[in-house]
Order: sequence, then structure tokens, then C-alpha cells
Amino acid sequence: MSETGLLHEQEITIVGAGLVGSLMSCVLAKHGARVTVIEKRPDLRHTDLSGGRTIAMSLSHRGWLALRSVGLEESVRTGTKPKHSRCVHLADGTERTQRYGAEGEALWTVNRKDLNCALVDCAEASGRVEFRFETECERLDEADRTLHLQGDGKSSEHTFDYLIASDGMNSAIRRKLVSDAALEDEIITLDYRYFELTVPAKADGTHALPSECVHVWPRPEGLMVALPNLGGTFTGTFFYALGEEDYFGGQLTDEERSRRFRFAFPEIVELIPDFEHELRTNPASDIKAVRCWPWQVSRRVLLVGDACHAIVPFYAMGMNLGFEDVTKFEELLESAGGDLETVFERFPEVRRPDTDAISDLSLQNFVSIGRSTDPEYQQRWELERALWELFPERWTPLYPMIHFGHHPLSDVIRRQAVQKKILHRLMAEGVDATLEATALADAARGAVEAELTRLDSDHRAVG
Ligand SMILES: Cc1cc2nc3c(=O)[nH]c(=O)nc-3n(C[C@H](O)[C@H](O)[C@H](O)COP(=O)(O)OP(=O)(O)OC[C@H]3O[C@@H](n4cnc5c(N)ncnc54)[C@H](O)[C@@H]3O)c2cc1C
Repeated sequence: MSETGLLHEQEITIVGAGLVGSLMSCVLAKHGARVTVIEKRPDLRHTDLSGGRTIAMSLSHRGWLALRSVGLEESVRTGTKPKHSRCVHLADGTERTQRYGAEGEALWTVNRKDLNCALVDCAEASGRVEFRFETECERLDEADRTLHLQGDGKSSEHTFDYLIASDGMNSAIRRKLVSDAALEDEIITLDYRYFELTVPAKADGTHALPSECVHVWPRPEGLMVALPNLGGTFTGTFFYALGEEDYFGGQLTDEERSRRFRFAFPEIVELIPDFEHELRTNPASDIKAVRCWPWQVSRRVLLVGDACHAIVPFYAMGMNLGFEDVTKFEELLESAGGDLETVFERFPEVRRPDTDAISDLSLQNFVSIGRSTDPEYQQRWELERALWELFPERWTPLYPMIHFGHHPLSDVIRRQAVQKKILHRLMAEGVDATLEATALADAARGAVEAELTRLDSDHRAVG
């Protein structure tokens, strides 16, 4: 990483050395800043703790771009595996494959801890970043620009010039600013919970299911998703409804939960010899999203990543979005000639339309994945892809727009609304992907041209 000197010797404090805070520290150091990162957990590089966090993460184009800017793309890529499609397991035992993008486009499985460690190593290697692990930020005094810290059994204070809060969904900095009435937040808690189950590797160390796809089992009882890890295991995540439809709720005995899960997902239980232990010991978590506004105070304190825009995990985009925050921050920094106050002021305005868009899309995708067993869903999926092949300059399906492009997500949601309307109209007219290409092009051209001309921009760059 070559230094630019844009932030020559500026002192910046970050709270939270998760994925986003660690990446941000690399970028700030690249521009010549001196960075202190305060992190409540121990140094991940010297501990086995996963912090109860999902170990397999899907990294896509927006995330890769950010890693490229700090020179980590190549080294991280060596430890990852591509996933090209979703494999939908139907209740009758058959499967449907839904390809995510064009040939060669994939989501990449990366180990959360390895990635976080690589980012911390990269930041330290700059010689400009100091990590203070096992130090919790208990309180922010924004007026005095002081953080009250607790670490090693002692309280201390830390003053800052500029503060970036990347302390995650439950951000202490955000909560303090809310209590000071400096900003407002909204926590959206879904009527669903999830718990994780590990599908172990087979005796020969290989995956028990094909590892180049994400496996989903949509059932009336809930949605099971299995993401391949490196090393032969899968992280299974089971999402289930609360309220009246609550099938796995807190009042049930372990035996009853086990009986119900076995009934709904016998094929998954077969893959997990330790199933009873997993079910009893893996805690269930809420599914939450966070919105807040404004993301900055006094042009000196700025929130990024999950701290200001945590989203539900149904597009596997939270980390990618947080990484894109860092890319956008860097673009603004360069265009503002290193003037941090301008960047802190502009960043939220520039960024929020995109984070709101993917937040909405992620909520919609949960409903959508639940319907992925419907023949109509499959028909629509195939029609979208057929139109992509016929009109590559005009049409890109939603998935590739989100994962394999870097077009602003606020444009993506607008484009998707128009494409959805066209798909509905064509399907109502009996048009589907089984039509011969010329007939399909003739049937669709009018609608595609008329509706998308207005929106047209160089959108093949999106896919
Ligand atoms: C089930 C699930 C699956 C997911 N899968 C994906 C996926 O496949 N792809 C994807 O892109 N995203 C995924 N996400 C989202 C992703 O995990 C988050 O968006 C991402 O971790 C956000 O990074 P962050 O650095 O903003 O916050 P975090 O990763 O939460 O990091 C915050 C850091 O701040 C520290 N901290 C917190 N409070 C304090 C304090 N008071 N003082 C000091 N330090 C503090 C924490 O210890 C932590 O290290 C998933 C999320 C869930 C729940």
C-alpha cells in the first residue's frame, strides 16, 4: 500500500475493530493518518473465540473492490471458494438450481475470523495503526471529544480529534448519541429468530453436499440455509417465525423442538450426527435491522457499517455494504482533498439512499427465498435470465445487480421495480423462458424498450 499523504499525521480514533473498522483503519493509514482502534474483544489473532458469530461469510463484488484498494484482494482470494448458484431443496426430495449470475460470477465464501485477522495485520503493517484490544468504550462525551474506556480492570479517558464508530449493530456510540438527542434510531426486529447448526465434513474431509452452491430448504415450518465453509463443513442457519406461527418457540421442551425439526428437515438431521447437542447448545438470535439519522455529529463523529445501517442477512450484504462504505469514504476523501470535516458531513448524504435501498431489498428477499419452491418463482427466475441474454445492454437481473456490480443500490431498486413490472406483464401474457429466442425477443422487446429506455444508463457495467 503506497501512502498518499492526504491525511498527513491526522489523529483519528475508531471504536470497533470488526470487519468494517479494521478495513477503515487500513484506508486511513494509507492516506497518512495515525489511527487508534479501540476494541472490546481480545485480539482475534491470538484467540479461538469466534464471538458466537457466523463463520462463513459471502463476499461479493462490492466487498472485493474495497479489499483491492488496500492490496488484500489477491491474498484473501486464495482462502475462499466460489458459490455460483442457489440449490433449492423441495419437500419431495427434488432440487432446483438457480444460477446467481453470468458465467464466472460467484459469491465467495470467506472465513470471518481469517478476514478480520488479515485486515488487522494489514493495518498494523502500515506502522500507523495502534489496536487497543480488550478495551471497551463505555461512554462518549461528544462535547469534550472524550471516550470513557474500561480495560484491564481500569477506567481511562481518551480524547480524539475525529471519531469513527464502527462498533456494530448494538453500537454504544449510537446509543449515547440517541440519548443526547443528537440522532434518532429505529431498530426493526423481525417476527423471526434464527439459530445455527454445523453440518460436519464427511470422513474424507469433503463437503456432505455440493459446495459450489448455497443450499436452501424453504418449508412452512421455517427456512433452512446452508453455506459451505472452507474445510468441508457447512454453516446451517435456521430461520423460524415467532407469534402465532411459532413452531420452534421458547416454551417448547428440547425434546419437542427436536421432534419438530426432525419432522420438517429429516434430510438435514441425517447430515448432523451431533444434532441433539447442536440444537440444545446453539443459542437463538433475533433478526434485526437498524436505521438512524444523521450518521454524523458536529463533523467530528461519524458512524459507519452496522452501527448505522445494520440490515437483515437475507442478501448476505451487511459486510459488503460496510466495505462499500469504506470505498465511498475514500472517494469522498480524495475529492475533498483530505478535508475530514467535509467528508464527515457529506458521507451520510451520499451513502444513505443506497443503504436504505439494500435494507428494503433484504427484507423483501426473505419473503422471496421462502417462495423459491413455487413453480412461478422458478419461471420468473428463468425468464429474467433469458431476457438478460437477449437484451444484455438493457436488462440485468436483480441478483447480479446487487452482487456482481457496483452501480448505486438506490438505482438498482428503481430499476428492479421497472423490471418486475415488465416480468409480471409478460408472464400474464403467457410469455416464458421456454419460448424460442426470436419469439421471446419479439414478445418482450416492446415492453423492455419502452419501460427501460427511461432508466437506461450504462447498465451492463452493473452486471
Ligand atoms: C447470520 C448472519 C449472517 C451474515 N452473513 C453475511 C454474509 O454472508 N455476507 C455479508 O456481507 N454480511 C453478512 N452478515 C452481516 C455482517 O455480519 C455484518 O454486516 C458485519 O459484521 C458488520 O461489520 P461491522 O464491522 O460494522 O460490525 P461488527 O462486525 O459487529 O463489528 C463491531 C466491532 O465492534 C466491537 N465493539 C462493539 N461495541 C464496542 C465497544 N463499546 N467498545 C469497543 N469495541 C466495541 C465488537 O467487539 C466488534 O469487533 C451476516 C449477519 C448475520 C447476523
